[in-house]
Amino acid sequence: MFSVAVQHLKITYPSQANRQRAIYDLSFTLRAGERLGLIGESGSGKTTVARALMGLIRDEHIHSGDICYDGVSFLTLKESERNRIRWNQVALMFQNGLHVLNPVLTLSQQIVEPLIKHKSMDKKAAYAVAADYIRLVQLEEDIMGMYPHQLSGGMRQRFLLAMALACEPQLVILDEPTTAMDTELKQEIITLIDTLQRQFRFALLVISHEFPVIQSLTDKLIVLDQGQVMEEGHTSNLLHEPQHPYTLGLIQSSPELNPYLDLWGIPSLRLPSVHGGCTFYNRCTQAIERCATERPELQDCDEDNQRVSCLRGGIVTLLQANKVSKRFGKRTACHNCSISIRAGEAVALIGQSGSGKSTLGLMLAGLLPPDCGEILFENEPVKMQQVSAKMHGIQMVLQDPYSAISPYFRVKQAIQEPLDVLKQGSQANRLEQVKHLLQQVQLPNHDGFLDQKCSELSGGQLQRVAIARSLILQPKLLIADEIHTMLDPSTQANVMRLLKRLQNEKGFSLIFITHNLSLARKVAGRFIKMEQGTIIENQSALEFIHKRKAVETKSP
Ligand code: SF4
Repeated sequence: MFSVAVQHLKITYPSQANRQRAIYDLSFTLRAGERLGLIGESGSGKTTVARALMGLIRDEHIHSGDICYDGVSFLTLKESERNRIRWNQVALMFQNGLHVLNPVLTLSQQIVEPLIKHKSMDKKAAYAVAADYIRLVQLEEDIMGMYPHQLSGGMRQRFLLAMALACEPQLVILDEPTTAMDTELKQEIITLIDTLQRQFRFALLVISHEFPVIQSLTDKLIVLDQGQVMEEGHTSNLLHEPQHPYTLGLIQSSPELNPYLDLWGIPSLRLPSVHGGCTFYNRCTQAIERCATERPELQDCDEDNQRVSCLRGGIVTLLQANKVSKRFGKRTACHNCSISIRAGEAVALIGQSGSGKSTLGLMLAGLLPPDCGEILFENEPVKMQQVSAKMHGIQMVLQDPYSAISPYFRVKQAIQEPLDVLKQGSQANRLEQVKHLLQQVQLPNHDGFLDQKCSELSGGQLQRVAIARSLILQPKLLIADEIHTMLDPSTQANVMRLLKRLQNEKGFSLIFITHNLSLARKVAGRFIKMEQGTIIENQSALEFIHKRKAVETKSP
């Protein structure tokens, strides 16, 4: 059975200042009929892998490792021997048809030539085979006499697919096969590739930054960032339960996987790791000191065949509540509630008024003692009034800013007070932080505003002050309890967008408590629904909304 094995491949490109590693220690095996995806942002090294598999990387850039086709080392072969493997065993379909094809040759000349060269066919036989493949990709045979510019984008992509398949390779590499296509055309190309791969059972490597392509065409997935494997495993597992913060960031940036979410993308510029640490260090929401200098190796994590490169073993669970209950007199406010919140995620806690959301939120923040059950924050039991009264803990923003903040406070005092209580930093430093936060919540930070009484502020301004106050201790988890309900629609939209931007920039986890589904789906990637004090649903926002729509459609 055919196989290609990439073994500890390291590729280094020279740059002016230093030698930058394009691929760091990549290994995978792909056999006949298997389908593997490579995903990552632009510049993550995906196309370098494709070029290496085709033998298109200069030998001096291959730092170490090997690529073996059917057990034969490809990298040690002479160019003439590599040529025999190209096209016959492996074919690559590039992303931009117009640039890849020769503008002065007819399509017939371009598809027939490899058949003559690599399959030793005469011209007539090669033409007949080429015509078969042209029809197979659902094009008319008469396009063979045309030039590349005479085809539409979709037709060119089909033609490139026919070219890639014509020599009957055992490995087909597709580099961004649907980039810049409209949705309908994308789906047509995906369906065509899927059908042909199932028919011919060739090994398929799909390189893409688009999740729908990866989701439809691959069974296993490798996630790359700056040439390093961040995570690998079964595609469906990675998409449903990503274990690496980078994978989660990519998923949260995908409009197809989050059609309702207000998208922000992974924050911060990508910087190469200068001290040999994790490549994701400067963008990671859960980085620790040693991540700057220590490179994580790929290791097994708990999930089925899922492996992750992270010194913390993957995305950490920040908060874990197990079977928490609370009664007020005879009324049960919360019953046996269990939830967990991971670093960097935004969760909506939804339900009607009186369903127990706020009670649960207060218990999670350590502001209300549960009658029974256990709440852990960073694996430590949450003690009353403590986790919210420390740096990097949990903060809660309440529904009514007028009752949450004393009307006698000046703006500066309202925001700075938590730092004063903890005696954090000098007075000058505290003031600096207050001014910075005011700027971040888009309020003035001049002396006049700092000295203004909170009672003189509008509802929207006061809610922003409350958000700034909650962020001054740099919480890892923010619980926002119906913070929009007392605001007019325009202010509400501005405050929600602000909250989402801050969450994205600062990387804290967010529990957004609301009864407003329309707002929740703009903010959160996961929905937890409560009813009469009990958690009745806990699933991705997309699944929740689709399920709800299906129920609504079925209802008479
Ligand atoms: S926790 Fe550290 S090792 Fe893990 S992804 Fe973040 S920066 Fe990298």
